[in-house]
Amino acid sequence: MRTVAVVGASLAGLSAVRSLRKRGYDGRLVVVGDELHRPYDRPPLSKEFLAGTVGEAELALETDDEDLRAEWLLGVRATGLDHAARTLRLSGGREVQA
Ligand SMILES: Cc1cc2nc3c(=O)[nH]c(=O)nc-3n(C[C@H](O)[C@H](O)[C@H](O)COP(=O)(O)OP(=O)(O)OC[C@H]3O[C@@H](n4cnc5c(N)ncnc54)[C@H](O)[C@@H]3O)c2cc1C
Repeated sequence: MRTVAVVGASLAGLSAVRSLRKRGYDGRLVVVGDELHRPYDRPPLSKEFLAGTVGEAELALETDDEDLRAEWLLGVRATGLDHAARTLRLSGGREVQA
């Protein structure tokens, strides 16, 4: 595997990336997320964040000391997968090739 593309830059996507690195995958990792934000914790949004006891910075799911060596394509939607061509199509006409 030369490239792994993960669609969805939230909890599941981050967990997939962490898992790949933990298991020794050393290749290119691309995370595609249609939101503009790096992974954040959603449950506090309707609780502590709403109540004002937790700030935006505390919602981040990544830790300061982790280096996942991933390319984050944010604000970009995955629109299709061409399995035969090993290509993920993205909004705006971009592609990620495996
Ligand atoms: C306000 C709120 C409160 C919550 N409270 C609780 C709670 O108290 N307890 C609990 O257990 N759970 C709670 N949840 C649910 C919990 O946050 C989710 O279970 C968790 O976020 C799921 O993570 P996920 O990565 O699977 O999916 P998501 O967090 O939904 O992330 C999926 C990501 O993929 C992106 N995406 C989807 N399709 C594409 C595409 N084609 N291209 C690019 N990007 C794409 C989406 O924009 C999104 O950012 C809450 C959720 C919210 C919103």
